[in-house]
Amino acid sequence: MAFNPFEMAQKQFDRVADQLNLSSSIRALLREPMREYAFTLPIRMDDGSMRVFKGYRVQHNDGRGPCKGGIRFAPNETIDTVRALATWMTWKCAVVDIPLGGGKGGIDCDTHELSMTEQERLCRAWVRALSSEVGPVQDVPAPDMNTRGYHMIWMLDEYEAIHRGKFPGFITGKPVGSGGSLGRTEATGYGVICTLNEACKTLGIDITKTRASIQGFGNVAYYACERYLKLGGKLICVSCWDNADKKSYCFKRESGVDIVELKKITNEHGEIDKVAAKGLGYEILPGDAWLEQDVDILVPAALENQINAETVNKIGKNVKIIAEGANGPTTPEADEVIKARGIYVIPDFLCNAGGVTCSYFEQVQCNMNYFWEKDEVLSKLDQKMSAAYHAVHQMHVDKGVYMRDAAYMIAIDRVAKACVARGWAMN
Ligand code: NAD
Repeated sequence: MAFNPFEMAQKQFDRVADQLNLSSSIRALLREPMREYAFTLPIRMDDGSMRVFKGYRVQHNDGRGPCKGGIRFAPNETIDTVRALATWMTWKCAVVDIPLGGGKGGIDCDTHELSMTEQERLCRAWVRALSSEVGPVQDVPAPDMNTRGYHMIWMLDEYEAIHRGKFPGFITGKPVGSGGSLGRTEATGYGVICTLNEACKTLGIDITKTRASIQGFGNVAYYACERYLKLGGKLICVSCWDNADKKSYCFKRESGVDIVELKKITNEHGEIDKVAAKGLGYEILPGDAWLEQDVDILVPAALENQINAETVNKIGKNVKIIAEGANGPTTPEADEVIKARGIYVIPDFLCNAGGVTCSYFEQVQCNMNYFWEKDEVLSKLDQKMSAAYHAVHQMHVDKGVYMRDAAYMIAIDRVAKACVARGWAMN
């Protein structure tokens, strides 16, 4: 049966709803998105032909504030993937306690096949399709897989042209100098390692003596690697996609991965050149090999459904911590195996919440029209991320529940309270 991320998100919700003894009205409200939009985007291609793309936006819940969530450009993007991601955004904003709800958007497209001008037309068309459904006090988009600052600025420009004014709070992840926040590019990856570092301290693990393996070499993975290496950890293996071969590969070097060197041979899609990497002394291994390494830490930071019933048994015997940089990398079936093995999981919507936290800081700075220094942004980010991590760890200890369930308990409880207070559900 095909993997359905929204069913997975609902399964995770149902488990915790039982543990929290939620009323039927709260369950009915939070199991489903509040609003969803699916639409076609007819685009004139550079060669003069027309192509029709599918676009989506899902607003899962805005009880705690305007919806917030990225836009992905992903081949085979479906409404169910976007629903799941929007749901996880609600829990993510709640677990780090920022006054935002959950949303997500996407376009079913492959950026490998699109020129920059075609991507610009897609961005503008997506905004035109949703111009009255999104906005600074309704629903605020951001970058995600295959979308970058330049996509955000095209979207902002289209939104401002339609609404005739300056609305920098419409979208986050903008380039610095165009309303963006310093530190936003690094924020998700740095946040992943902030929670990992706190987890190491909590578990009595010396991070400088750890080895790690990571899946992905895009925005999240790169900055996670950078901060992990700065803290003294040793990175052994990186996995990424190879579009020419339509499969993924791992790049392993026992003496340690040099991310600056690898970055120079990585394209804008986060794909490393195999031949050049071989020349630099990297072993090229099959895509799943990142799981099997003799490491203490695994960081899935590419996409969903990577640690599943088939791959979970490949996890190396010395792995102690999984820090989930990606959204939904682990399926509920795999969770059972991980739990039984006693591996400590920093769940996705806590671990990768640095991006949305910094996006929130970007909105705050845009509203004040006053921008902070990078150190200020990053130290506020660390405060939020470590406070959220410790609250989840404490819940895990107090209630004796799996870390993912502990994070869900905190987040769902906050969202449920906000919805009840508004009269949207009964206790
Ligand atoms: P990205 O597009 O910058 O990079 C994705 C990376 O994954 C690339 O290196 C690509 O080669 C690799 N990849 C793709 N398919 C793969 C496969 N089958 N096997 C191995 N590697 C593969 O994306 P990103 O922004 O780094 O996002 C990565 C994950 O983190 C996604 O799940 C995203 O939803 C999540 N996330 C991103 C942010 C953010 O701020 N960018 C925030 C929170 C969560």
